[in-house]
Amino acid sequence: MKKEITLQDKTFVPFLDKEKINKEIARIAQEINRDYKGKKPLLVGILNGSILFFSDLLKEIDIECEVAFLRVSSYKGTETTGNVKKILGLDKNIENTDVIIVEDIVDTGITLENIIQDLSSNHPQSLKVVTLLFKPKAYTKNYPIDYVGFEVGNEFLIGFGLDYNEIGRNLDELYIIKEPMLNIILFGPPGAGKGTQSELIQEKFNLTHLSTGDMFRFHMKNDTDLGKKAKEYMEAGNLVPDQLVIDMIDAKLSESHDTKGFIFDGFPRTTDQALALDELLSKKGWGISKMVSLEVDEDELVKRLLLRGKDSGRKDDQDESIIRNRMAVYNNETAPLKDFYANQGKQIGVDGIGTVEEINGRINSAIS
Ligand code: AMP
Repeated sequence: MKKEITLQDKTFVPFLDKEKINKEIARIAQEINRDYKGKKPLLVGILNGSILFFSDLLKEIDIECEVAFLRVSSYKGTETTGNVKKILGLDKNIENTDVIIVEDIVDTGITLENIIQDLSSNHPQSLKVVTLLFKPKAYTKNYPIDYVGFEVGNEFLIGFGLDYNEIGRNLDELYIIKEPMLNIILFGPPGAGKGTQSELIQEKFNLTHLSTGDMFRFHMKNDTDLGKKAKEYMEAGNLVPDQLVIDMIDAKLSESHDTKGFIFDGFPRTTDQALALDELLSKKGWGISKMVSLEVDEDELVKRLLLRGKDSGRKDDQDESIIRNRMAVYNNETAPLKDFYANQGKQIGVDGIGTVEEINGRINSAIS
């Protein structure tokens, strides 16, 4: 795949290569071959986007079938309702026919709903939907999507039939829009000052602050399921299991639109979390810009945490043995991440002893 593609004013980076796309198309075709054995389905391609998917899928279908096309165009102004206009209709009678709608991407479902209603009124025997790409978070309808190649987020994709202002359809792989982002990991042991410094960096660089510790405390305070699951680990000063943390971050990343970047505070804390974070970000065409690690010695940290415990009432800051356990967990499981990011040339150490302003000045120059 090309490393980057520029179309008009936008840059796109690789998303799904041919091999991955082919594999899913072959899988879907197999399912259709199995489900429609002995029948003669009519595959209805929705133009223009489905052209490449339609043709590749068709080549893998080995039962008797017919084809037809519909051309629709959806005008979306500022209104979310959308307005779908049929430009080219079906020239076939579909009564008592097993119809399969072939879409490149199902987004809000407005276009699809229109097509389904239109085709249903002609009394097909059955009506199913196959799509290469599906955006579950954007989907607002209840029609089942019967065959899905890939579930994707809300990012803008081009290639393999999908366009940006009508160009890019001919690319035979999928690319995702590249947004310039500043994604910082503020790293360091408990008590290093990550929370305080994150607030200052957030303001200066206009970033979204994601603190997994704060998120868990919020869940615990509100007694949510996640809060109940995290409680025993947090109170003992142990790490909450990776998958719970990763799922929570995944949800946050997906709901944060129009941000200039993120500041990760208290995450990642294990190698598996760091690998998952790289994967979550790369799915959106993003990546970690820098990892700033605050260096503070352990006796100073314990002193700071005990002091903080008196003011904040945080249970895990009040008991020295729990604090020492958190230090041990940090040294064993979290500290190795410095090498993980150093190997990618992204790690910068910053002296975490001094006034809040002094330390902030050091961090700002590390980031800029
Ligand atoms: P913090 O406020 O960052 O010191 O986090 C407080 C506690 O929340 C930790 O001791 C863990 O129990 C839990 N926690 C926060 N972030 C994570 C994470 N990334 N992985 C696992 N546990 C976490």
